[in-house]
Amino acid sequence: MPKLLLLGGTTEANALARSLAERGMNAVYSYAGRVDNPRPQPLPVRVGGFGGVDGLAEYIRDNAITHVVDATHPFAAKMSANAIAACKVADVPLAALTRPAWSPQQGDRWQHVPDIPAAVAALDGPVRRVFLAVGRMHLQDFAAQPQHHYLLRLVDEPETVPLPNADIVVSRGPFTVEGDVELMKNHGTELVVSKNAGGTGARAKLDAARTLNVPVLMIDRPSLPPRHELSSVDQLLDWLAHS
Ligand code: NAP
Repeated sequence: MPKLLLLGGTTEANALARSLAERGMNAVYSYAGRVDNPRPQPLPVRVGGFGGVDGLAEYIRDNAITHVVDATHPFAAKMSANAIAACKVADVPLAALTRPAWSPQQGDRWQHVPDIPAAVAALDGPVRRVFLAVGRMHLQDFAAQPQHHYLLRLVDEPETVPLPNADIVVSRGPFTVEGDVELMKNHGTELVVSKNAGGTGARAKLDAARTLNVPVLMIDRPSLPPRHELSSVDQLLDWLAHS
């Protein structure tokens, strides 16, 4: 019987975990350990980094893993690159469960930037009220633009915030367009900064920005080495059955 390692931390990984559990499949769900109380999963869970490529290859061997599924966030580029390399070393098949990037619709006012440093540079200028939706890990980068009034939405209450003017909303969603319109109106949001995550989980703020005619600074995805990519749980289950 196959034994799957599911690299998770996303809505898509959670949906896959439910399908695997329903089918009684042997699988382990892996979290990086970034949030205080990760969502419970219907599969055995392990938490924390593996220790780079070698650590992951060793984990695969020690736990008799036969297949790896990378269902991490599109911006978790280090984990994804490590998974590609470690699966080669351990000689097990890897598939990535991906989601298409968001693309602008009529009425959207998006400015694209290639990465976080470019987003920071684009914020140079006079004070604005900015909904900075990039997650806790990247807040420090934006300390280089301390003049703005930031709205931050985070999964956990942060111990410290490296931005002098920030309102913090602690929530892990799900978010609705109506809720995000209300949030952005209440905070007088003039600009949204977003990673191009794709998927449904974080989409509401972009629809809210369009509704309110608010511009969006959209950070493009990091690029990755080539890998086998699948876009649905059904495709993934089929791959598992045939590889
Ligand atoms: P990253 O920069 O690619 O990963 C940094 C290190 O964290 C990896 O080298 C690995 O450590 C460990 N790691 C990452 N994902 C892991 C997992 N699922 N299981 C075990 N170890 C993991 O990743 P990140 O951007 O910090 O994201 C961390 C996690 O949060 C990911 O699982 C991702 O799915 C989730 N997430 C990220 C974002 C985002 O915007 N980046 C948004 C939502 C959710 P070792 O090298 O020691 O193995």
